[in-house]
Amino acid sequence: MQALVIREPKRIEWQDIQEPAGPGPDEVLIRLKAAGICCTDVHIYHGTHGAVTYPRIPCHEFSGEIVAVGADVEGFRVGDRVAVDPVVSCGRCNMCQIGRHNICQTVKCLGVQTDGCFTEFVNIKANRVYPFEPEIDWDTAALVEPFSVAAQMADRLRINNGDKVLIVGAGTIGLAFLQVVKGVYGAQGAISDVSSLKLTMAQEMGADAVIDAKGSKVVQRAMEFWKNTGPTVIVDAVGNSKLLQELILDAPPGSRIGVIGFTTEPLEIPPVEITKRELEIIGSRMNRDKLPDVLRWFKEGKLPGAHKLITHKFKFREAEKAFQLLNSHSENVCKVILDF
Ligand SMILES: [Zn+2]
Ligand SMILES: [Zn+2]
Repeated sequence: MQALVIREPKRIEWQDIQEPAGPGPDEVLIRLKAAGICCTDVHIYHGTHGAVTYPRIPCHEFSGEIVAVGADVEGFRVGDRVAVDPVVSCGRCNMCQIGRHNICQTVKCLGVQTDGCFTEFVNIKANRVYPFEPEIDWDTAALVEPFSVAAQMADRLRINNGDKVLIVGAGTIGLAFLQVVKGVYGAQGAISDVSSLKLTMAQEMGADAVIDAKGSKVVQRAMEFWKNTGPTVIVDAVGNSKLLQELILDAPPGSRIGVIGFTTEPLEIPPVEITKRELEIIGSRMNRDKLPDVLRWFKEGKLPGAHKLITHKFKFREAEKAFQLLNSHSENVCKVILDF
């Protein structure tokens, strides 16, 4: 079967690899149906992701169909439609022991620190696999993982229906988070971006306010919109240290500030800025058992704009074209799906 391998930074190759013989006792064998390309995959392609060794088969967002079930696996059948949680943890360290396996001491993400799923068949441990009903199409199911990242942020940031949430950056995660904040928690959401096209998408997904980030202090603009009663929560969904620094310095008293970026550029923040306004700086990594919640939200119609994140679709074997498109940084590109 064919696998897309990033041999070294900026070099994509197709490799003919052995099809898995069958699932291990605690695994299921999945035939890929749809996979999303994440900005993490683009970083892996460019060699700008610190945690990756090469060669690497990327991909951690996908849906598929079970074609074989391991001997000890219960509750799954051939033909089940499934999504996969890409978080791989040890199960033994102190964080795993208290259920926070997404920050396991040796945590890995499928397709980042270990080979992922840009291939036709893959064996996955059954306890990482979640079934979904046919009402959810394959492409939308491939979005469960980015929505699980948004769900984790909402949990970590203690979002509630009284919150006024400013999301900085209308990429896949920013827009998914907007939908979760509004559709699941009933909070208000404003979003900023430099792209007017992305802001139009945000409007279609129900944003209460959209802010053109070009040449404006986004926190100030959000405070004007909420007449100084918000934002109560600010999320940097761009992952830029200079920007995060600005957000922290401008945040109103008592703000909770979400950090999800993997950038290694240091921040320069005088501690007094955090102390005097009792700011809470809250990190959020991947997800902690959020896939069942997201699948339920999809089924209950709480995230009706989910599929609107998908702006482009390619056949799996056209993946190079998809990477070219993402590398072009064109503003009309949000989530790109590969169809198997
Ligand atoms: Zn991702
Ligand atoms: Zn662990």
